[in-house]
Amino acid sequence: MSTSTTSETASTSQRKTALITGAAQGIGRAVALRLARDGCWVGVVDLKSQEGALTELKDEINALSQDGESRAEVIIADVTDVKSVKNMVDTAVRITGKLDIMVSNAGILKPLVPFLEAPLSDWDDVMDVNARGAYYCYRFAGEQMVKQGHGGRIVGASSVMGKKGRDMVATYSASKFAVRGLTQSAADALGKYGITVNAYAPGHIDTPMTHNTVLPSMGFTKPGEVHRTLAPKEGVLGRTGSAEEVAAWVSFIVSDGAGFITGQTVGIDGGMHFD
Ligand code: NAP
Repeated sequence: MSTSTTSETASTSQRKTALITGAAQGIGRAVALRLARDGCWVGVVDLKSQEGALTELKDEINALSQDGESRAEVIIADVTDVKSVKNMVDTAVRITGKLDIMVSNAGILKPLVPFLEAPLSDWDDVMDVNARGAYYCYRFAGEQMVKQGHGGRIVGASSVMGKKGRDMVATYSASKFAVRGLTQSAADALGKYGITVNAYAPGHIDTPMTHNTVLPSMGFTKPGEVHRTLAPKEGVLGRTGSAEEVAAWVSFIVSDGAGFITGQTVGIDGGMHFD
């Protein structure tokens, strides 16, 4: 699959350039809006099927602009496809001249099924997006940042399930442990270039992914029930988190003030898991 933009506007500004994958909804959308409000130019990246939502997001971000300057661009990319991810990075560089921040957020969760009953194909499907996709994003963003020679920030999406495995989420948990390993390895490799690499590990965050999750074996059969009933019991703060709370952490970790933090996968989980 190739990567394309719906329209391209040259930007000559000195804004930081950020790419966010899986930006059409949920955490990725909140991160894109937050980084745009922080002053970044953002490439909002998702699958072709999400082009309409990405265009709305781009318009919302450009409406923040006081002087008509373009502050966002839609970039269609499938993170499982190596050419697509390379083209995503090249597109941001072509439009803005650089890449400063890569937020590798795209991920999928399969229906929750007991370990011994899950379709074997879940392994390839989930690892492809959550682990391979993150690897490609880290890798090609890292190559570009090293070439530029002025550091950078790479941020990945792990999970509380990337710290402790559970029945019903075996392949998802494995993929999110992979993101932690990748984050540590990339941080080790890229530190000497001034590039930090960190990941968020959310617990229950209210997004389309989790809203639509049901857990029939525990009696949760309708969308939203897991959030309303189970999530508040699992963290010491007793509630579900918001995408904006994850975005607030991303805003910090990509800031200059977070320049001495790298290789970390940080829980944003209302106290579900203590490291
Ligand atoms: P979401 O609502 O499902 O949004 C994910 C976005 O990624 C969707 O727009 C999705 O498009 C897109 N996407 C899927 N496959 C892709 C691909 N191959 N290439 C590019 N984009 C792709 O998920 P979310 O809840 O915001 O989660 C964001 C990240 O945080 C994920 O990595 C997730 O695993 C992680 N996370 C979330 C939670 C939580 O409680 N929400 C907890 C722990 C970790 P389609 O919808 O068209 O597939």
